[in-house]
Amino acid sequence: MSLIVMKFGGTSVGDIDRIKNAARKVVAEIQRGHKVAVVVSAMAGATDQLIGYCRSISPRYDQREHDAVVSTGEQVSSGLMALALQQRGLNARSWQGWQVGVHTDATHGKARIADIDAIKLRKSIDAGEIGVVAGFQGVADDGRITTLGRGGSDTSAVALAVALKADRCDIYTDVDGVYTTDPRICEKARKMKCVSYEEMLELASLGAKVLQVRSVEMAMRYRMPVQVLSTFANEIGSDLPGTLVAEGNKTMEENPVTGIAHTRDEAQITLTGIEDKPGMAAKIFGPLARAGINVDMIVQTASSNGVTDLSFTVSKLDADRAVKVLDDEKKAIGFEKLASLREMSKISLVGIGMRNHVGVAATMFETLAAKGINILVIETSEINTSVLISDEYTELALRSLHTAYGLDKA
Ligand code: ASP
Ligand code: MG
Repeated sequence: MSLIVMKFGGTSVGDIDRIKNAARKVVAEIQRGHKVAVVVSAMAGATDQLIGYCRSISPRYDQREHDAVVSTGEQVSSGLMALALQQRGLNARSWQGWQVGVHTDATHGKARIADIDAIKLRKSIDAGEIGVVAGFQGVADDGRITTLGRGGSDTSAVALAVALKADRCDIYTDVDGVYTTDPRICEKARKMKCVSYEEMLELASLGAKVLQVRSVEMAMRYRMPVQVLSTFANEIGSDLPGTLVAEGNKTMEENPVTGIAHTRDEAQITLTGIEDKPGMAAKIFGPLARAGINVDMIVQTASSNGVTDLSFTVSKLDADRAVKVLDDEKKAIGFEKLASLREMSKISLVGIGMRNHVGVAATMFETLAAKGINILVIETSEINTSVLISDEYTELALRSLHTAYGLDKA
């Protein structure tokens, strides 16, 4: 007998029929003899609507009241799910974040979980009750309700699984697993049966949207197996039909590349004619950091005659602000020209096998060259290689790399 945390996302509880369908899956796991705790998101669209209400009162609302309002989406779905389970003859009850004891810091709107005091919930599960926990919410030390940031109920579910010492956390969502690349772009993308924590963290950070990045960090830190699976299919989690995020194993390492992620909202900013002397990077990136602009890839060309060029990427949404910040600092930095390219895309190969394979990056460059795709920035880490290209080539790049690394489905 295992203890499984079953998390249902917004689409999985999007209307009453779907809630009933989710309840059927819970019943099926219990009939297999497993113990279950359920975590729910708000019904699809509910959170957006609640945020909209706050904004329509004032664009600069009190974050604490925002959390009081926005957390109600999960209060509704947890109560409805408990009712649906009761309707199927189960002894179910809802738990709000503060009732479980999901303690967070006080950064309202994107609070971090400090600890979960799951003793009461654990006792209730052991006594045969099904706990339905409202995801996305917690309570700060001052007793006020907090929320964990968009997509935060994934993190609630994994954290709860860790606190309950569950055997697995199943995340039911609108896709049936994690794919080798975006299946909407590449029809030969394959669903992975399993993927290591490290790879999933890279994939999620580099653009794969299935799991909130923080939930993967948490799963990795506590080595909690997490399965991503479809809420629409008939199977249940214990048949392992989805993608299991777990400890990496040997067979995974055979192919150096496990998956290819991409993000399309990149902009590249280039400063030319800067003096090559100590302190220049600080002069450029200090003001950007103070403006809250996140810089991603950075390259500097070799200097000639004591002058160099520096290029970096930011999110497209931050591009105008970044240009303005640098223009304001033009005198202090002393660059010649500032140029920006907005429609850029970052393509990233991910795989733990890259650690001990040579030539992985070379294949990438050759494949892109053969298609006439120009690479503007290259970045590598232990288990990923990323390039920045013009967004118009995103589809072509993904499909040809997918083939080049032998990822296409038969
Ligand atoms: N309901 C929240 C959101 O829409 C949390 C979640 O669904 O994970 O972001
Ligand atoms: Mg989600």
